[in-house]
Amino acid sequence: MSALRLILTDQISHTITSLEGIKAEEDVVMLCELMEEFTYVKHHKKKIAFLFSAMRHFADELRCKGYSIRYVKLDDPLNTGSFAGEVKRAIAQVKATHLIVTEPGEYRILQKMKHWQSEFGIPVEILGDTRFLTTQAEFASWAKNKVQLRLEFFYRRMRQKYKILMESESKPIGDKWSYDKENRKPPKAGMKIPKRISHKKSSIIEEVLELVQDKFTDHFGTLEPFHYAVTRDQALLELNHFINELLHDFGHYQDAMLSGEPYLYHSLISSYLNAGLLLPLEICKAAENAYLSGKAPLNSVEGFIRQILGWREFVRGIYWMYMPEYGEKNDLAATNPLPDFYWGAKTNMFCVAEAVRHTRDHAYSHHIQRLMITGNFAMLAGINVKAVQEWYLAVYSDAYEWVEMPNTLGMALYGDGGIVGSKPYAASGKYIHRMSDYCKHCQYNPEVVTEKNACPFNGLYWDFLVRHEVKFRHNQRMSYVFSTWDKFGIEKQQAIRNQASITLEKMKAGIL
Ligand SMILES: Cc1cc2nc3c(=O)[nH]c(=O)nc-3n(C[C@H](O)[C@H](O)[C@H](O)COP(=O)(O)OP(=O)(O)OC[C@H]3O[C@@H](n4cnc5c(N)ncnc54)[C@H](O)[C@@H]3O)c2cc1C
Ligand code: SF4
Repeated sequence: MSALRLILTDQISHTITSLEGIKAEEDVVMLCELMEEFTYVKHHKKKIAFLFSAMRHFADELRCKGYSIRYVKLDDPLNTGSFAGEVKRAIAQVKATHLIVTEPGEYRILQKMKHWQSEFGIPVEILGDTRFLTTQAEFASWAKNKVQLRLEFFYRRMRQKYKILMESESKPIGDKWSYDKENRKPPKAGMKIPKRISHKKSSIIEEVLELVQDKFTDHFGTLEPFHYAVTRDQALLELNHFINELLHDFGHYQDAMLSGEPYLYHSLISSYLNAGLLLPLEICKAAENAYLSGKAPLNSVEGFIRQILGWREFVRGIYWMYMPEYGEKNDLAATNPLPDFYWGAKTNMFCVAEAVRHTRDHAYSHHIQRLMITGNFAMLAGINVKAVQEWYLAVYSDAYEWVEMPNTLGMALYGDGGIVGSKPYAASGKYIHRMSDYCKHCQYNPEVVTEKNACPFNGLYWDFLVRHEVKFRHNQRMSYVFSTWDKFGIEKQQAIRNQASITLEKMKAGIL
């Protein structure tokens, strides 16, 4: 009886369920670098290098534990490049009697796996993924009979379930569940943001960088410098550095944006967490301890924990509850092509160019850049939701469909018609001006709407609201914006809409 235990690219955890009960003398653990998985969308070079390096290091750690490892490198001449091909080859070679795998993060892969038993002719056991803090069944039972699913209530339940930042069973520490309102400060002039740590490049990383440079030349993004952590020990160093040096100010500047500063006080842990090098509960506990020991204030700690215990689990619950129909949604009928400036072509909009630059160089931009710059622009300009989702999935090192899709389609584009958010995150250039220093570097003016040099976000913002007036006018949370629009008068309204048309024409002509 020899089990083949398959570890997927984002399951780089010693505690993954597919390794539970492993018999070192009989079983074989399999990891493979599959061309199919890295080219179905053209992933950022840094993301590929990070994952291949982390997988290779992980395989070495498992070998040290005495396990039998079958590791198929991308450039192995026999590598078929697909799950089906590699699993089939492995079953025949190791004479596996059954296959054990932890459920994948993506619907697409789960559908493939469901056919494996009949395809390969051996029993296939698909185990739950205990790295998440809510099961799909728990989420569905919480969501049942609710007219609207709102993060706030789900998050409270998670705090109670895991007893995080709780004074008693039902009372949150500090008497408030959320400190979001305190966490919206703009950047301060002369802010001194602690330097990030980096990690020594192993020979594994050097080899992987060469491979990625060679095989993925036409993928977006720069490969070097490469500073990613690639082992659990290194990822823990990243976490500790964040908790000790940055968490203190995370809250206040959570929504701030600053040119030349891609990271500000953000944790940069999403890639490690999503790939399995870190676990969500250990992160939340580390942050809670920082509050309890007086290292970081409550607004920062609560704000940070809410992202992981709340948003991350919430969007995953939504993904699995609504797939596959979710992926086909396009509630605002957005169909314009994705402008080339998302891939680095010239744009005069400084904020967009800066967010794309960070993305190209680091396979990272922080949440507010993703939501209020690239996401906001795409929503206001009616860019095709599938193209936008594909972009987000390709360019970020933390991107996997279960988390990217609800964030992009739901949160940023309002393309799911309000499943994730109760109103669109639409904002004009004034918001960006308030929360960043971008506008002072820009040739557009955030203070004007209809002038020749008006910030493109301004006209598009109003035009977007009016284009979708039927959907939004009666949304209570938006009544104030429509009452402002109504006060403009017909002439000004027409001028604003003309300006928006000019902006869209310029976008299509590649001169925005
Ligand atoms: C359009 C769009 C697309 C996104 N795509 C992804 C994606 O593919 N993968 C991904 O992990 N996150 C995604 N996010 C959420 C968020 O932007 C990133 O998790 C965050 O920027 C990662 O950087 P960080 O680790 O420094 O996060 P921090 O700001 O330090 O936050 C801490 C952690 O909280 C979690 N988190 C924060 N916000 C969210 C959220 N909205 N949903 C889920 N988890 C969250 C992440 O694990 C993150 O590491 C997306 C957001 C938007 C608006
Ligand atoms: S003026 Fe408008 S386009 Fe320019 S940086 Fe500001 S918000 Fe962006």
